[in-house]
Amino acid sequence: MSSPSSSEKLPPLREVIAESGLAARKVLGQHFLLDLNLTKRIVSFAGDLSGKTVFEVGPGPGGLTRPLVESKAKKIIAVEKDPRCVWALSTLKDWARGRLEIIENDALELNFVDMAPAPRVIVANLPYNVATPLLLGFLRQVDSFESLTLMFQAEVADRLLAPPNSKAYGRLSVITQFCCRGKRVMDIPAQAFTPPPKVDSAVVHLLPRTDRSKDISFEKMGQLTAAAFGQRRKMLRSSLKVLGGEALLEKAGLDPTRRAEELSLEEFECLARLL
Ligand code: SAM
Repeated sequence: MSSPSSSEKLPPLREVIAESGLAARKVLGQHFLLDLNLTKRIVSFAGDLSGKTVFEVGPGPGGLTRPLVESKAKKIIAVEKDPRCVWALSTLKDWARGRLEIIENDALELNFVDMAPAPRVIVANLPYNVATPLLLGFLRQVDSFESLTLMFQAEVADRLLAPPNSKAYGRLSVITQFCCRGKRVMDIPAQAFTPPPKVDSAVVHLLPRTDRSKDISFEKMGQLTAAAFGQRRKMLRSSLKVLGGEALLEKAGLDPTRRAEELSLEEFECLARLL
């Protein structure tokens, strides 16, 4: 089915919010983007969406959903926990002529891979309070997605892409970089949101790594990084004691007095392979 040409005829987002009594709820991480030029730009980072199913977590009143519906995507599946938002999206749903499916549910409870065949992508302005568990769920089955274009608090975006020996480098950096090549594509100031959050945001574009070692499971890397960064300031011989400590480090040819924050991704991969 062809995509509608332009959403200009839809009521302004402020009107949609007012009519549906959508006062933002902090507990649901509700900070809405109402500038459609901005949301169009975010969608453009996802690349050509022709023939793909796009998953959006938390469409809210539809600021990001509108340009997704205007794109060439085959289908958009938007998962929203707040019934008020689902109601607010009904005009957009009608306008999308069958290409927009809205699912009222907690995105943490769903497995997107079961919901539509490949090719699949994820584009979302993630709710801050559950952004990390959502990301880890996507990364666990990252090969099922062509790309992930996600907005995070700027500090979380820093952690995802941080290099070793930097303050932001930690478990999330190693796991994300083990699964994906990532790029920070856009910074968004807090004032761009209604209501503005306390901190700035950033959009990160992630592509599953095709050269990832298939002999290391996500679970193994998770277990290793949990132990290594669980006691971040300790030497690896002590933080990795439960996984083999000095013997494991010796096998990997790593100095047992080093700390997790100094190890490169390749060194973590070498350790994970030996577990
Ligand atoms: N996409 C909209 C935008 O950019 O303006 C709204 C983004 S707002 C940061 C996050 C949205 O996620 C809210 O609409 C909120 O209700 C929804 N949400 C929060 N927790 C959720 C969850 N566990 N599952 C699905 N949606 C959730």
